[in-house]
Amino acid sequence: MPETKGLGLYNVVVIGAGTAGLVTAAGTAGLGGRVALVERNKMGGDCLNYGCVPSKALIASARVIHRIRHASRWGLNEQEPQFEFERVFESMRSRRAEIAPHDSVERFEALGVDVFAGEARFVSPHEIVVDSQKLRAKNFVIAAGTRAGIPPIEGIRGVPFLTNETIFDELRKKPDSMIVLGGGPIGCELSQAMSRLGVKITIIEVLEQILPKEDKDVADWTETLLEAEGIRVLRSSQAIRVSVCDGKVQFELVRRPHGAYESEPRQIVADSLLVSAGRVPNVEKLNLEAAGVNFSPRGVEVNAYLQTSQPHIYAAGDIVGPFQFTHTADAQARVVVRNILMPFQLLRQKMDYSAVPWCTYTDPEIARVGLNETEAKLQNISYDLISLQINELDRSVVEREELGFVKVLTAKGTDKILGVTIVAAHAGDLVHEFVLAMKHRIGISQLATTIHAYPTFAELGRKVSDYYNKRRLTPFVKRVFNWLYQHSRVASPPGSACVQEGQNIGSEESQRGQEEV
Ligand SMILES: Cc1cc2nc3c(=O)[nH]c(=O)nc-3n(C[C@H](O)[C@H](O)[C@H](O)COP(=O)(O)OP(=O)(O)OC[C@H]3O[C@@H](n4cnc5c(N)ncnc54)[C@H](O)[C@@H]3O)c2cc1C
Repeated sequence: MPETKGLGLYNVVVIGAGTAGLVTAAGTAGLGGRVALVERNKMGGDCLNYGCVPSKALIASARVIHRIRHASRWGLNEQEPQFEFERVFESMRSRRAEIAPHDSVERFEALGVDVFAGEARFVSPHEIVVDSQKLRAKNFVIAAGTRAGIPPIEGIRGVPFLTNETIFDELRKKPDSMIVLGGGPIGCELSQAMSRLGVKITIIEVLEQILPKEDKDVADWTETLLEAEGIRVLRSSQAIRVSVCDGKVQFELVRRPHGAYESEPRQIVADSLLVSAGRVPNVEKLNLEAAGVNFSPRGVEVNAYLQTSQPHIYAAGDIVGPFQFTHTADAQARVVVRNILMPFQLLRQKMDYSAVPWCTYTDPEIARVGLNETEAKLQNISYDLISLQINELDRSVVEREELGFVKVLTAKGTDKILGVTIVAAHAGDLVHEFVLAMKHRIGISQLATTIHAYPTFAELGRKVSDYYNKRRLTPFVKRVFNWLYQHSRVASPPGSACVQEGQNIGSEESQRGQEEV
């Protein structure tokens, strides 16, 4: 006999129906737990509605526009692409709508989850209230996510601005120009997409480099690429005031391009403003004090098992960090589902962040796993560096996707992979061979022992491995090999070197692009 929705004790009450909340709810229900899921806004959270899905759909359209504009690279006549800004946005929304049913109330109710629409707040460590409905549970999962942070710039609340929560649904007409405040991954991705859609973009970034988590050479390379596409990038620029002037947004900023502040503030004017200057955790409305859950401006505090200061209350996703990605929210939720089920701490699983990939979906993409050079230096970790240009892959040349490079860090003197940065078309896919290798402690020298199809971008793994192995050939080892070859020629009986009919002689044509190793 099913219990009445909302009454009695739940195994788990989940707050927030973004990736972390959905995965927790579906996982718990799938294992037979009684679970309630509370969402105050849209099912699917940021990723579906205001994040990954709409941004990648828009980026895909913008990429096609860019390819058409540069069609001569593929032997076609160059032409100005024909498109309507509003229809590109409609198409983005329709692709998002195709994915939405996966996260819908109907789907989750069908999985056995009780879904509640409304804002949840704790009234005690064992109860929350949604509107006037009280929900009681043995365990709670806080998966309330983040929202766009609005930097404290004088006047900013008085000017119209877009964030990731409004740009995909409320921007109905193409602005001629746009200021993008923040040159992180979201700012760079959307700047490039909007620029390709014909909007004149200026990125304002307070730090000395865009994409601050990446190595400086990666960030500089990306900046050069964006500038070549007509985007103005103002780094080391502190916005001090913003106002509306003749219907336009006007920024006053001071710059310190070479370490020292310029004496005169600059004025930057545009039709519209997109704020993409970091994320703020949604902790305020949860009344965490009533639950005795510790939190800070950075989010809810958790231990390695994702338990808060109240061990029966877990937290997952962006509200926890340390990474703010859909796949880390998903991975954390899986650990939470398992840990809630386990009766003893001893059986619970710690979160493993040893090989977390991520990707910035600029074109070309920038994918990372593990350490980059900056981090290795900061942590005093000695490393060897293998770097390779993407145009060394035959596939990149035939596809005219030659832009980019890869940097692989290995522990000094060994083949242990410390980290990989790939700047390339499909980098977000290519990085996973290295993620798997890192996770399962497969050294870089081993990747070449796996046969990779030719010609693919995936040959990158083999190429890097070949480079590593080739570099290991010390003069001494080469002399030994040389001696072995000479010895085998001397030892062979005369005539035995003849090639028999049908014998495979391993010709050059057997696989183009093979390395001498
Ligand atoms: C523009 C953009 C692009 C992105 N692109 C990518 C990408 O390509 N790849 C990637 O991996 N990540 C990407 N991300 C990040 C990704 O969207 C997040 O990491 C992911 O959505 C986090 O999921 P979450 O469940 O922690 O939080 P969210 O998705 O934010 O969900 C939290 C939910 O909780 C609800 N909530 C909050 N408080 C309450 C309350 N008191 N009661 C009830 N409900 C509440 C909110 O309404 C929200 O629906 C992007 C983000 C943005 C903004």
